[in-house]
Amino acid sequence: MNDNLPPHAPDNHAPDNIVPDPCAGLTAIHAQIASAAREAGRDPAEVTLIAVSKTHPAAAVQQLLHCGQRTFGENRVQEAAQKFPPLQAAWPDLRLHLIGPLQTNKLREAVALFDRIDSLDRPRVADALEQTAQSTGRLPRLLIQVNIGDEPQKSGVTRAGADLFIRQCRQRFGANLAGLMCIPPQGQDPTPYFRDLTAMAHHHGLATISMGMSGDFISAIKMGATEIRVGSALFGQRN
Ligand SMILES: *Cc1c(COP(=O)(O)O)cnc(C)c1O
Repeated sequence: MNDNLPPHAPDNHAPDNIVPDPCAGLTAIHAQIASAAREAGRDPAEVTLIAVSKTHPAAAVQQLLHCGQRTFGENRVQEAAQKFPPLQAAWPDLRLHLIGPLQTNKLREAVALFDRIDSLDRPRVADALEQTAQSTGRLPRLLIQVNIGDEPQKSGVTRAGADLFIRQCRQRFGANLAGLMCIPPQGQDPTPYFRDLTAMAHHHGLATISMGMSGDFISAIKMGATEIRVGSALFGQRN
């Protein structure tokens, strides 16, 4: 009766023991994006999916590339530097975002590797970015990360400091400053935080609003996200 099973097939046939088809997973997320957008009266095409591949191997990224996914997020410069250059060479339209904190000593490498830095959050890094851009002729597009819950352990510019920092970065980086990013506090309804980030972006005329992860992207889309960052719902749980 079990002759058709591959060797080492699990005895338990529950659906969550089946390794998911990566393209099916991607299609499912796109369907959820589309329905959340329509419910909010928005065009689903306004929402870009960033596949967060941190801790997952290059082979997993490649599978999603074959399914049509092109935008990826990594939170550590070193890890991305080991994984992405061959993929970038093979897929010229791949777009890579840095979504984790940026240290000034990694900045040169980050500027060379990433198409966008989504975690700009303090003047020291802005200074270093400007210097690096002047010496290398390369400036990625940028998002400012706002610590929308004013949590001491989280990176991001404080809510009180956001207005000034956004205006300074706008002056310095012009149209390369594309928008705002946030990670709301865990274990609370993220809706008011998402709403506040959208209001802040609109107030400054910034078009890109990156918010919402595997657990809360539906709410983020309803509150105005133009980009969502999804890891575990696409790649499975991280170790
Ligand atoms: C890891 C990470 C994500 C993705 O989280 P999931 O819950 O796995 O979807 C999104 N944004 C940032 C900044 C992250 O570090």
